[in-house]
Amino acid sequence: MLTLAIIKPDAIEAGNAGKILAHLEGQGFKIRAARLVRLTKAQAEEFYAVHRERPFFRPLVTFMGSGPALALALAREDAVAHLRQVIGATDPAEAKAGTVRKLYAQSRERNAIHASDSAETAAREVAFFFPELAP
Ligand code: ATP
Ligand code: MG
Repeated sequence: MLTLAIIKPDAIEAGNAGKILAHLEGQGFKIRAARLVRLTKAQAEEFYAVHRERPFFRPLVTFMGSGPALALALAREDAVAHLRQVIGATDPAEAKAGTVRKLYAQSRERNAIHASDSAETAAREVAFFFPELAP
């Protein structure tokens, strides 16, 4: 089973991408595809379209396009649920000790990593970045 992660621009800028990748591999995820991307405004809007009515949508789109980000297709048993556990709560102040966001997020907005939140979302998000993996 595959899920989609994005190491966000804040984590790349802070020099934490390698540590986060090692953390994910240590949790049993295998990298099936990886791509360093610089999201356009249109791509960030499409990726986070579910949030377009939320007050944080514009800043989220600006942030996600503010620098390079690393998109990853990750394989593991129960990959979607497990990756959500490994990354921790959206706001690092609420994230459990040892989670990626507790270790590396700067704030609720600049929170180091994205992970798909359901099997359906994972299929759509993997195809968004890696159409070559589509069955
Ligand atoms: P992601 O989708 O990036 O993995 P998430 O699933 O934990 O994060 P979502 O509710 O999908 O959280 O929100 C998407 C992103 O929007 C969050 O990662 C965060 O950067 C930002 N965000 C969410 N809620 C807020 C908020 N209340 N204020 C500011 N930014 C927010
Ligand atoms: Mg989300």
